[in-house]
Amino acid sequence: MNNWAGDYECSVCRRKRLTASEFSKKMQERYKKEGNGALKCKGCVDKAAADERATAAAKTKTAAPAGSTDTAACSACKENLPASAFTKPQLKKGPAKQRCQPCILKAEQSEQTSSQDKKAAALQAAREAVAKAEKGGDVAAKLRAASKLSALEGELVTGLRPLSLGRGRGRGRGRGRGRRGK
Ligand SMILES: [Zn+2]
Ligand SMILES: [Zn+2]
Repeated sequence: MNNWAGDYECSVCRRKRLTASEFSKKMQERYKKEGNGALKCKGCVDKAAADERATAAAKTKTAAPAGSTDTAACSACKENLPASAFTKPQLKKGPAKQRCQPCILKAEQSEQTSSQDKKAAALQAAREAVAKAEKGGDVAAKLRAASKLSALEGELVTGLRPLSLGRGRGRGRGRGRGRRGK
């Protein structure tokens, strides 16, 4: 095989008389169809791909610059995070107190769990009170204990306090027109 010189030209690095082996299959197909003009040798294709990756990497870096004024440290996880990870009110609290969104979320969740635990404990206590009152035979105490228990049970099932079950006062309403009552 005489592959010394070919008829291919690279449109990027401008090398001429290249052999087909310098080009990918796709480029060889293109040469057959269109001839020289828009061919890229393998080296140039690789280089372009590497450049593209480098540019993309540089862009990602500038999007989250380390140590710039746009980062803030979270007082809970001690992580240095972009300011966008914090709410404005949190940032106002300053580095000693501000917490990032994930930390706040976590805290809220554990608070919820602990309040669920508290409710469960209260329920347990109420059940015991009912049992005790039943043994004691005091009707008034029994009634009180029973109604407390059923209130607690209701609260646990709906997740709402009985008082907030009123109609027409739901969250997210009352803004804009039709605002009445205080
Ligand atoms: Zn080339
Ligand atoms: Zn945090």
